[in-house]
Amino acid sequence: MTYCFAADRTLGKLAKWLRILGFDTIFESNVSNKGFYDHLEPERVLLTRTAKIRDRFAAKRLLFIESDDVCEQLRQVIGELAIARQDIRVFSRCLPCNSPIIEVNKQAVYGRVPDYIWQTHDEFSRCRQCERIYWSGSHVARSRAIIDPISTLDAMVS
Ligand SMILES: [Zn+2]
Repeated sequence: MTYCFAADRTLGKLAKWLRILGFDTIFESNVSNKGFYDHLEPERVLLTRTAKIRDRFAAKRLLFIESDDVCEQLRQVIGELAIARQDIRVFSRCLPCNSPIIEVNKQAVYGRVPDYIWQTHDEFSRCRQCERIYWSGSHVARSRAIIDPISTLDAMVS
């Protein structure tokens, strides 16, 4: 089962974590309210903490997020949609642009990452859209710097 999401402007952290877990998640940031909600694909689950939005878009696939704590928010999304371990592909998506990243040959990134990174890593991937290069550790370090709900994921999903 694949899931995709649209997060309202109050749920930026949750949107980021859903991307880290590999879910296609668009985030209402620069889009005007009206445009954002009116042009969502029908399969996208709208995530909101705003009662007004919940009531107005009740016909859409919608999950009203209860908590303001991002770990609790993730727990709610995973629990209510019954997301399973195999639905989660951690670090398979570019964080800034939400595009899938693809594995690339080590030779292909020579000169495009710091030398010490190139010398000490063998697996690299690249975002199809912004061409940002990822290697094991690059995503992880940045994410761990904020919080670490991934460590609790094993307990949350079966
Ligand atoms: Zn990208």
